[in-house]
Amino acid sequence: THDIHIIGGGLAGSEAAWQLAEAGFRVKLSEMRGSGEMTPAHHTDGLAELVCSNSFRSDDATSNAVGLIHQELRTLGSLILREADIHKVPAGSALAVDRDGFSGGVTAALVAHPNVEIVRERVDILPDTPAIVATGPLTAPGLADSIAGATGADALAFFDAIAPIVHFESIDMETAWFQSRWNKGDGKDYINCALNREQYEAFHAGLIAGEKTEFKEWENVPYFEGCMPIEVMAERGLDTLRFGPMKPVGLDDPRTGRWPHAVVQLRQDNAQGTLWNIVGFQTKLKHAEQVRLFRTIPGLENAEFARLGGLHRNTFIRSPELLDSTLRLKSRPNIRFAGQITGCEGYVESAAIGLMAGRFAIAELRGGALPPPPVETALGALLHHITGAAVAETYQPMNVNFGLMPPIPGRTKKADRKKMYTDRARAAFGAWLAA
Ligand code: FAD
Repeated sequence: THDIHIIGGGLAGSEAAWQLAEAGFRVKLSEMRGSGEMTPAHHTDGLAELVCSNSFRSDDATSNAVGLIHQELRTLGSLILREADIHKVPAGSALAVDRDGFSGGVTAALVAHPNVEIVRERVDILPDTPAIVATGPLTAPGLADSIAGATGADALAFFDAIAPIVHFESIDMETAWFQSRWNKGDGKDYINCALNREQYEAFHAGLIAGEKTEFKEWENVPYFEGCMPIEVMAERGLDTLRFGPMKPVGLDDPRTGRWPHAVVQLRQDNAQGTLWNIVGFQTKLKHAEQVRLFRTIPGLENAEFARLGGLHRNTFIRSPELLDSTLRLKSRPNIRFAGQITGCEGYVESAAIGLMAGRFAIAELRGGALPPPPVETALGALLHHITGAAVAETYQPMNVNFGLMPPIPGRTKKADRKKMYTDRARAAFGAWLAA
């Protein structure tokens, strides 16, 4: 017998299991690897296997949102951070790990825990008892069907199509302007950047020539309309983009009063209005190439990117409309979701959402409720984005970043701002812990 069933022993499931077990609850952890099953990206049977890079990214808690979330996770007794610290390898200001040592350490801790039973099995049906689903970006198809049945098929995606996301404060609004096509809407729905013929043709050539990342052989992403990479569209002809995402009709450049040759549009990506996505710009261009090329767009010369574009195989649900503020599926509240399947992105973020799912479940099993961490903290900001602040219709995976937090009021020097975010976060986190 167990108090809760956790499905998936990756970064999120392992962390959730640890939190619950440490709090005295009996956990059944089902992991399909080790039962003759494998995902296309994993290679071992170890829990919390890192499928690609061995880096947990920046460990700087004073000027980086990832470093800040590391610190918050450590404070909350994270198993993932504890083992990462133990198996750390030199990587400058980043936290990188010996991947086998790390996965081995997480596995050993959970195997040895008296409250954890690890079962090597594939789960195909969502349980009716308290459960946390943490099956990740490569959730096995049977369970994905069961999830689609509970959420509605169009609320579960099998591929992401990520357009780059820009911090509002880095957009030059002297050059770019607010306007909706044909002046529909309230006029603040889109930010527009105009390109003249010369700029457009150079941009088009840059897309064609730019270095792209390759799909893995198993990824085989179908290009359906609406998520075609911008460079694939560019290859169809010089003017294809001008009839697609870069269409200028109905948009008046305030400097000329006329429709420009081509337009790049950005649409608001979160409730706070701090993040804006470049509409239709999902891409397989290499990250450095994206930064270089997108900064040639007038108004985006100094753009800071909250995330760059991408296209991957990635199973995730439309969390902002499906989950409540403690990660429960609204239509079946015995089920919580955790990890990348909620639409966070990255090892650290997946572990963070696993930790919070575990803590919310602990409070509920004790007959109470845990208020989510404040939105000024890194954990709170990421959670808030997933469970409501992101725009549901265009929801795409997201890393933790300062743009998910409420902006710092007043005018501040850019150099000071990061420290202001992290100082404010530390104070808010401390107050939440104390309460
Ligand atoms: P996972 O760690 O994938 O864990 C899910 C677990 O559930 C797996 O062990 C799986 O075997 C198991 N499972 C699936 N279905 C079932 C089922 N039906 N029954 C039982 N068990 C099941 N993030 C980074 O930060 N850096 C990177 O370099 C990076 N590279 C990536 C490369 C690839 C190819 C992919 C797909 C993702 C990458 N990510 C990376 C993104 C992401 O952060 C990781 O995938 C991360 O492991 C997600 O954590 P998770 O716990 O949500 O899922």
